[in-house]
Amino acid sequence: IGPGNADATGSRILVFVRLRPMSRKEKEAGSKSCVKILNKKDVDLTDLASENDYLRLKRGRGHHHFCFDASFPDSTTQAEVYSTSTADLVEGVLQGRNGTVFCYGATGAGKTYTMLGTMENPGVMVLAIKDLFSKVRQRSYDGSHSIQLSYLEVYNETVRDLLSPGRPLLLREDKQGIVAAGLTQYRAYSTDEVMKLLQQGNQNRTTEPTRMNETSSRSHAILQVVVEYRYLDGANIVARVGKLSLIDLAGSERALATDQRTQRSLEGANINRSLLALSSCINALVEGKRHIPYRNSKLTQLLKDSLGGACNTVMIANISPSNLSFGETQNTLHWADRAK
Ligand code: ADP
Ligand code: MG
Repeated sequence: IGPGNADATGSRILVFVRLRPMSRKEKEAGSKSCVKILNKKDVDLTDLASENDYLRLKRGRGHHHFCFDASFPDSTTQAEVYSTSTADLVEGVLQGRNGTVFCYGATGAGKTYTMLGTMENPGVMVLAIKDLFSKVRQRSYDGSHSIQLSYLEVYNETVRDLLSPGRPLLLREDKQGIVAAGLTQYRAYSTDEVMKLLQQGNQNRTTEPTRMNETSSRSHAILQVVVEYRYLDGANIVARVGKLSLIDLAGSERALATDQRTQRSLEGANINRSLLALSSCINALVEGKRHIPYRNSKLTQLLKDSLGGACNTVMIANISPSNLSFGETQNTLHWADRAK
């Protein structure tokens, strides 16, 4: 089954895990690594039937194995992450098929590094747009392409334009689906320009008052790239449109509505409604349910035409290797496991 192809039992989501290197802070705190990525070829894993690599989560003497569509060790480059996770979706978008990539994980696990990256090591967002430009250039069609991008934030169920910050945007339903009214649509021509634009956009993300320079862990950033190809079919102009959505999700550390140990509801304010609603939609899609609860949050409303059905969907779960983050890593891996 190809990426995201729906079968009789529901939509298929490709799930990847990316382990980041141990940070200096973690080393200084004396942490040990509790995650190992095992190559099927190198290790005797005869009890585990799969072609894929395994991820081993260790605690004390015990361990637990997880298997995903691919597991990226901490040496994996941005280009490798892009080509394994997103390159096929970009090809699909050029054919008029929507594609969506999420980064999920706790704060500090490497979501923004994976999605946006740095000037020296640009991430999936930038590499996808670069690839789009080069693929469009290589094509010698009779028609013409346009590439437009928008970048917005969902923070506490408020939608803001990251390319032109100002008042919150309202969601409206039109024939295109649900759109943020007045959102800047930027016509893009070069990759360098896009990297600067996205870096600036990221600085416009909401920060918590107590930590002025850090992006709020409750903010979701959504980049949408719409590729339109117009060509002449006989006497008619035909347009083929594909949309790529790349999403840097809010930190997952407080995503669950209940404390897993006590099963008690957490305080209302601690629940990230959009993250919770996304989980419900993904679980409903994977289980092949007919009703998908898109209406429950701003994030899922915005992604209604970009999740499930004929859309290619990819989830990248980001994790830290440190035993100090064991609980968060375990939660992230279980969450990702359920999305398969
Ligand atoms: P998040 O967005 O999930 O909160 P970040 O992407 O900001 O986390 O990552 C936290 C820190 O770790 C940043 O300083 C980032 O540059 C660094 N980092 C994350 N992933 C990697 C990686 N694969 N290689 C090198 N540094 C990384
Ligand atoms: Mg981040």
